[in-house]
Amino acid sequence: MNDEFVRDVFDSAHAAHARRVRLYEELVRTRKLKSHLLLTYRGRNCRCALLHILDTTEGVLVGHPPGKVSTSRAMKVDGTPQNRTKRAAFLLRDSPGPERFGARCDHVSEIVTAEQIRADLAANRRGAEIQLP
Ligand SMILES: [Zn+2]
Repeated sequence: MNDEFVRDVFDSAHAAHARRVRLYEELVRTRKLKSHLLLTYRGRNCRCALLHILDTTEGVLVGHPPGKVSTSRAMKVDGTPQNRTKRAAFLLRDSPGPERFGARCDHVSEIVTAEQIRADLAANRRGAEIQLP
């Protein structure tokens, strides 16, 4: 395995991630999120949307809804404040991707595993809401 190969793999993974983020942002922007929504993970008390599980042409997408991020995570690398984040990742088809997903807002900080998401997808109707403590 040479450096060029490693770099190519890294670049293509990076490009794939960027494409997913764009896809997710586009669904939000064009208000098409709901028609793709399989599950929404929400804070039980605060009702914040923590994760969106979406049925897309590229596979099952785990979307981290944009939201306020408190404390140190609110700073970008260059030191500028960043109180809203948007991230996305694929589930199932993308085995090298993270299999654990942070479900966080200012009130809740939970980890949801891919295994839990698969079980919730199997046990719930499309569009269901899953409450996290
Ligand atoms: Zn919250």
